Amino acid sequence: MRKTIQTVIFSVLVAVFAGQMSAKVNAVATTTMVADMVRDIGGENVEVIGFMGPGVDPHLYKATSKDLKNLKNADVVFYSGLHLEGRLADVFTRMGRRGIKVYAVTEDIDRESLLEPAEFAGHYDPHVWFHPMLWAEGIQTVVEALAEEDPENAAEYQRNGVELAASYEALHAWALLKTAEVPEERRILITSHDAFNYFGEAYGFQVVGVQGISTVSEAGLADIVRMVDFIREKKVPAIFIESSVSPAAIERISKDSGATIGGELFSDAMGTPGVIHSYDGEEYDEGTYIGMVKNNVRLIVEALK
Ligand SMILES: [Zn+2]
Repeated sequence: MRKTIQTVIFSVLVAVFAGQMSAKVNAVATTTMVADMVRDIGGENVEVIGFMGPGVDPHLYKATSKDLKNLKNADVVFYSGLHLEGRLADVFTRMGRRGIKVYAVTEDIDRESLLEPAEFAGHYDPHVWFHPMLWAEGIQTVVEALAEEDPENAAEYQRNGVELAASYEALHAWALLKTAEVPEERRILITSHDAFNYFGEAYGFQVVGVQGISTVSEAGLADIVRMVDFIREKKVPAIFIESSVSPAAIERISKDSGATIGGELFSDAMGTPGVIHSYDGEEYDEGTYIGMVKNNVRLIVEALK
Protein backbone atom coordinates (compact mmCIF):
# COMPACT_ATOMS: atom_id res chain seq x y z
CA MET A 1 0.00 0.00 0.00
CA ARG A 2 2.71 2.42 1.02
CA LYS A 3 4.61 1.64 -2.14
CA THR A 4 1.54 2.31 -4.25
CA ILE A 5 1.04 5.73 -2.69
CA GLN A 6 4.68 6.56 -3.29
CA THR A 7 4.32 5.48 -6.91
CA VAL A 8 1.22 7.64 -7.32
CA ILE A 9 2.94 10.65 -5.78
CA PHE A 10 5.96 10.11 -7.96
CA SER A 11 3.81 9.86 -11.12
CA VAL A 12 1.94 13.04 -10.18
CA LEU A 13 5.22 14.88 -9.64
CA VAL A 14 6.56 13.67 -12.99
CA ALA A 15 3.37 14.81 -14.70
CA VAL A 16 3.48 18.26 -13.06
CA PHE A 17 7.14 18.67 -13.93
CA ALA A 18 6.58 17.59 -17.54
CA GLY A 19 3.62 19.96 -17.74
CA GLN A 20 5.79 22.81 -16.62
CA MET A 21 8.53 21.86 -19.06
CA SER A 22 6.20 21.87 -22.06
CA ALA A 23 3.99 24.76 -20.98
CA LYS A 24 4.00 27.61 -23.43
CA VAL A 25 4.48 31.20 -22.39
CA ASN A 26 1.10 32.94 -22.34
CA ALA A 27 1.53 36.30 -24.03
CA VAL A 28 -1.13 38.92 -24.60
CA ALA A 29 -0.66 41.60 -27.27
CA THR A 30 -2.79 44.64 -28.08
CA THR A 31 -2.68 45.61 -31.78
CA THR A 32 -2.40 43.16 -34.66
CA MET A 33 1.08 44.51 -35.50
CA VAL A 34 2.37 43.84 -31.98
CA ALA A 35 0.77 40.37 -31.93
CA ASP A 36 2.40 39.56 -35.29
CA MET A 37 5.85 40.54 -33.98
CA VAL A 38 5.47 38.51 -30.77
CA ARG A 39 4.24 35.46 -32.75
CA ASP A 40 7.21 35.62 -35.12
CA ILE A 41 9.71 35.87 -32.27
CA GLY A 42 7.95 33.45 -29.91
CA GLY A 43 7.44 30.71 -32.50
CA GLU A 44 6.15 27.45 -31.05
CA ASN A 45 7.05 28.29 -27.46
CA VAL A 46 4.68 31.19 -27.05
CA GLU A 47 0.89 31.30 -27.19
CA VAL A 48 -0.13 34.80 -28.30
CA ILE A 49 -3.60 36.20 -27.72
CA GLY A 50 -4.26 39.46 -29.58
CA PHE A 51 -6.85 41.91 -28.24
CA MET A 52 -7.64 43.74 -31.43
CA GLY A 53 -8.70 42.28 -34.75
CA PRO A 54 -8.54 43.72 -38.29
CA GLY A 55 -10.14 47.17 -38.60
CA VAL A 56 -10.06 47.89 -34.87
CA ASP A 57 -9.01 51.41 -33.82
CA PRO A 58 -6.49 51.24 -30.93
CA HIS A 59 -6.91 54.94 -30.02
CA LEU A 60 -10.49 54.29 -28.90
CA TYR A 61 -10.19 50.68 -27.77
CA LYS A 62 -11.42 49.76 -24.29
CA ALA A 63 -10.63 46.40 -22.69
CA THR A 64 -13.53 43.92 -22.81
CA SER A 65 -14.27 41.44 -20.02
CA LYS A 66 -12.72 38.75 -22.22
CA ASP A 67 -9.52 40.82 -22.50
CA LEU A 68 -9.40 41.23 -18.72
CA LYS A 69 -9.71 37.48 -18.29
CA ASN A 70 -6.90 36.90 -20.79
CA LEU A 71 -4.75 39.46 -19.00
CA LYS A 72 -5.32 37.69 -15.70
CA ASN A 73 -3.88 34.48 -17.17
CA ALA A 74 -1.02 36.18 -18.99
CA ASP A 75 2.65 35.65 -18.18
CA VAL A 76 3.65 38.69 -20.17
CA VAL A 77 1.83 41.56 -21.88
CA PHE A 78 3.00 43.53 -24.95
CA TYR A 79 1.50 46.77 -26.19
CA SER A 80 2.52 49.27 -28.84
CA GLY A 81 2.94 52.32 -26.58
CA LEU A 82 3.61 56.05 -27.06
CA HIS A 83 -0.03 56.60 -26.00
CA LEU A 84 -1.42 54.67 -28.99
CA GLU A 85 -3.68 52.58 -26.75
CA GLY A 86 -4.89 55.65 -24.85
CA ARG A 87 -7.75 53.96 -23.02
CA LEU A 88 -5.79 50.91 -21.88
CA ALA A 89 -3.18 52.79 -19.83
CA ASP A 90 -4.98 52.19 -16.52
CA VAL A 91 -5.33 48.47 -17.22
CA PHE A 92 -1.59 48.13 -17.87
CA THR A 93 -0.75 50.02 -14.70
CA ARG A 94 -2.98 47.63 -12.72
CA MET A 95 -1.34 44.60 -14.37
CA GLY A 96 2.10 45.97 -13.51
CA ARG A 97 1.04 46.38 -9.87
CA ARG A 98 -0.06 42.74 -9.78
CA GLY A 99 3.41 41.71 -10.87
CA ILE A 100 2.55 40.79 -14.47
CA LYS A 101 5.32 42.00 -16.77
CA VAL A 102 4.11 44.61 -19.23
CA TYR A 103 6.25 45.89 -22.11
CA ALA A 104 5.72 48.56 -24.77
CA VAL A 105 7.44 47.33 -27.93
CA THR A 106 8.40 50.96 -28.68
CA GLU A 107 9.99 51.55 -25.26
CA ASP A 108 13.60 51.05 -26.40
CA ILE A 109 13.37 52.91 -29.72
CA ASP A 110 15.85 55.77 -29.80
CA ARG A 111 13.80 58.87 -28.87
CA GLU A 112 15.87 60.93 -31.31
CA SER A 113 14.33 58.97 -34.21
CA LEU A 114 10.73 59.57 -33.11
CA LEU A 115 8.56 62.29 -34.62
CA GLU A 116 6.98 64.97 -32.44
CA PRO A 117 4.37 66.64 -34.64
CA ALA A 118 3.47 70.22 -33.72
CA GLU A 119 -0.23 69.41 -33.29
CA PHE A 120 0.63 66.82 -30.64
CA ALA A 121 2.95 69.00 -28.61
CA GLY A 122 4.87 67.10 -25.99
CA HIS A 123 3.93 63.66 -27.33
CA TYR A 124 5.61 61.40 -29.85
CA ASP A 125 3.72 60.18 -32.91
CA PRO A 126 2.87 56.55 -31.99
CA HIS A 127 2.45 55.16 -35.56
CA VAL A 128 6.04 53.86 -35.70
CA TRP A 129 5.25 50.61 -37.57
CA PHE A 130 5.14 52.41 -40.92
CA HIS A 131 8.90 52.86 -40.82
CA PRO A 132 10.07 49.22 -40.90
CA MET A 133 13.57 50.11 -39.68
CA LEU A 134 12.19 51.89 -36.61
CA TRP A 135 9.63 49.15 -35.94
CA ALA A 136 12.53 46.69 -36.09
CA GLU A 137 14.04 48.42 -33.07
CA GLY A 138 11.21 46.92 -31.01
CA ILE A 139 12.28 43.35 -31.84
CA GLN A 140 15.04 43.23 -29.22
CA THR A 141 12.62 44.40 -26.52
CA VAL A 142 10.37 41.41 -27.26
CA VAL A 143 13.33 39.00 -27.55
CA GLU A 144 14.64 40.01 -24.12
CA ALA A 145 11.21 39.93 -22.49
CA LEU A 146 10.51 36.40 -23.75
CA ALA A 147 14.02 35.26 -22.82
CA GLU A 148 13.49 36.50 -19.28
CA GLU A 149 10.17 34.70 -19.05
CA ASP A 150 11.48 31.50 -20.60
CA PRO A 151 15.31 31.38 -20.31
CA GLU A 152 15.47 27.84 -21.63
CA ASN A 153 14.46 28.99 -25.11
CA ALA A 154 16.36 32.29 -25.04
CA ALA A 155 18.68 31.29 -27.90
CA GLU A 156 15.71 30.51 -30.10
CA TYR A 157 14.06 33.88 -29.40
CA GLN A 158 17.34 35.56 -30.24
CA ARG A 159 17.60 33.62 -33.53
CA ASN A 160 14.01 34.40 -34.49
CA GLY A 161 14.60 38.06 -33.69
CA VAL A 162 17.64 38.26 -35.95
CA GLU A 163 15.68 36.61 -38.76
CA LEU A 164 12.73 38.94 -38.29
CA ALA A 165 14.95 42.04 -38.28
CA ALA A 166 16.44 40.90 -41.60
CA SER A 167 12.98 40.50 -43.11
CA TYR A 168 11.96 44.01 -41.97
CA GLU A 169 15.15 45.36 -43.51
CA ALA A 170 14.36 43.61 -46.80
CA LEU A 171 10.83 45.04 -46.67
CA HIS A 172 12.24 48.55 -46.24
CA ALA A 173 14.64 48.12 -49.18
CA TRP A 174 11.76 46.87 -51.34
CA ALA A 175 9.48 49.75 -50.32
CA LEU A 176 12.23 52.28 -51.14
CA LEU A 177 12.49 50.83 -54.65
CA LYS A 178 8.73 50.74 -55.26
CA THR A 179 7.94 54.21 -53.92
CA ALA A 180 10.71 55.64 -56.12
CA GLU A 181 8.33 54.92 -59.02
CA VAL A 182 6.18 57.86 -57.87
CA PRO A 183 7.54 61.17 -59.24
CA GLU A 184 8.66 63.48 -56.46
CA GLU A 185 6.03 66.18 -57.10
CA ARG A 186 3.30 63.56 -56.77
CA ARG A 187 4.44 62.25 -53.41
CA ILE A 188 1.57 63.70 -51.39
CA LEU A 189 -0.33 61.23 -49.24
CA ILE A 190 -3.75 62.30 -47.99
CA THR A 191 -5.58 60.04 -45.54
CA SER A 192 -8.16 60.18 -42.74
CA HIS A 193 -5.86 60.64 -39.74
CA ASP A 194 -2.14 61.24 -39.34
CA ALA A 195 -1.01 57.60 -39.24
CA PHE A 196 1.53 57.91 -42.04
CA ASN A 197 4.11 60.46 -40.87
CA TYR A 198 6.75 57.75 -40.45
CA PHE A 199 5.89 56.35 -43.86
CA GLY A 200 6.37 59.85 -45.26
CA GLU A 201 9.70 60.20 -43.53
CA ALA A 202 10.92 56.78 -44.69
CA TYR A 203 9.88 57.18 -48.34
CA GLY A 204 9.86 60.92 -48.97
CA PHE A 205 6.11 61.70 -49.01
CA GLN A 206 4.37 64.79 -47.71
CA VAL A 207 1.64 63.39 -45.46
CA VAL A 208 -1.60 65.20 -44.70
CA GLY A 209 -4.26 63.74 -42.41
CA VAL A 210 -7.75 65.21 -42.28
CA GLN A 211 -8.26 64.34 -38.66
CA GLY A 212 -4.95 64.78 -36.85
CA ILE A 213 -2.91 62.22 -34.95
CA SER A 214 -5.64 60.55 -32.92
CA THR A 215 -9.12 59.56 -34.03
CA VAL A 216 -10.70 60.79 -30.78
CA SER A 217 -12.01 63.99 -32.41
CA GLU A 218 -13.80 63.78 -35.77
CA ALA A 219 -12.97 65.92 -38.79
CA GLY A 220 -14.95 69.16 -38.88
CA LEU A 221 -16.30 71.06 -41.87
CA ALA A 222 -13.36 73.50 -41.78
CA ASP A 223 -10.87 70.60 -42.04
CA ILE A 224 -12.74 69.28 -45.07
CA VAL A 225 -12.85 72.65 -46.87
CA ARG A 226 -9.15 73.23 -46.19
CA MET A 227 -8.29 69.81 -47.59
CA VAL A 228 -10.36 70.31 -50.76
CA ASP A 229 -8.52 73.59 -51.47
CA PHE A 230 -5.16 71.92 -50.86
CA ILE A 231 -5.97 69.03 -53.25
CA ARG A 232 -7.05 71.42 -56.01
CA GLU A 233 -3.99 73.60 -55.58
CA LYS A 234 -1.54 70.68 -55.61
CA LYS A 235 -3.51 68.70 -58.23
CA VAL A 236 -3.42 65.58 -56.04
CA PRO A 237 -4.83 62.70 -58.15
CA ALA A 238 -5.86 60.30 -55.38
CA ILE A 239 -6.60 60.21 -51.65
CA PHE A 240 -7.01 57.24 -49.31
CA ILE A 241 -9.42 55.84 -46.76
CA GLU A 242 -8.13 53.85 -43.79
CA SER A 243 -9.20 50.44 -42.52
CA SER A 244 -9.62 51.52 -38.89
CA VAL A 245 -11.25 54.95 -39.40
CA SER A 246 -14.69 55.94 -40.76
CA PRO A 247 -14.38 56.83 -44.48
CA ALA A 248 -17.03 59.61 -44.38
CA ALA A 249 -14.70 62.63 -44.42
CA ILE A 250 -12.44 61.23 -47.17
CA GLU A 251 -15.49 60.31 -49.31
CA ARG A 252 -16.82 63.84 -48.95
CA ILE A 253 -13.42 65.34 -49.84
CA SER A 254 -13.11 63.06 -52.88
CA LYS A 255 -16.54 64.18 -54.10
CA ASP A 256 -15.84 67.88 -53.57
CA SER A 257 -12.27 67.93 -54.93
CA GLY A 258 -12.49 65.45 -57.80
CA ALA A 259 -9.57 63.37 -56.44
CA THR A 260 -10.27 59.65 -56.78
CA ILE A 261 -10.15 57.27 -53.80
CA GLY A 262 -6.94 55.27 -54.21
CA GLY A 263 -8.13 52.44 -51.98
CA GLU A 264 -8.23 51.49 -48.33
CA LEU A 265 -4.89 51.64 -46.52
CA PHE A 266 -4.25 49.59 -43.42
CA SER A 267 -3.42 52.17 -40.80
CA ASP A 268 -3.68 51.09 -37.15
CA ALA A 269 -4.56 47.43 -37.80
CA MET A 270 -3.48 44.78 -40.29
CA GLY A 271 -5.84 43.10 -42.77
CA THR A 272 -7.67 39.78 -42.59
CA PRO A 273 -5.32 36.80 -42.06
CA GLY A 274 -5.24 34.48 -45.07
CA VAL A 275 -6.32 37.09 -47.65
CA ILE A 276 -3.58 36.84 -50.26
CA HIS A 277 -2.70 39.53 -52.81
CA SER A 278 -0.17 39.35 -55.56
CA TYR A 279 2.01 42.29 -56.60
CA ASP A 280 5.38 42.79 -58.17
CA GLY A 281 5.79 39.08 -58.85
CA GLU A 282 5.16 37.91 -55.28
CA GLU A 283 2.29 37.02 -53.02
CA TYR A 284 1.63 38.46 -49.58
CA ASP A 285 -0.92 37.89 -46.82
CA GLU A 286 -2.61 41.16 -45.79
CA GLY A 287 -3.05 39.78 -42.27
CA THR A 288 0.70 39.97 -41.58
CA TYR A 289 2.81 43.02 -40.82
CA ILE A 290 4.88 42.58 -43.98
CA GLY A 291 1.74 42.05 -46.09
CA MET A 292 0.13 45.13 -44.55
CA VAL A 293 3.04 47.35 -45.54
CA LYS A 294 3.24 45.80 -49.02
CA ASN A 295 -0.47 46.35 -49.55
CA ASN A 296 -0.20 50.02 -48.62
CA VAL A 297 2.84 50.55 -50.84
CA ARG A 298 1.03 48.86 -53.74
CA LEU A 299 -2.09 51.05 -53.39
CA ILE A 300 -0.10 54.27 -52.95
CA VAL A 301 2.25 53.60 -55.88
CA GLU A 302 -0.56 52.49 -58.20
CA ALA A 303 -2.76 55.49 -57.42
CA LEU A 304 -0.11 58.23 -57.44
CA LYS A 305 2.50 57.21 -60.04
ZN1 LIG B 1 -3.71 56.08 -35.39
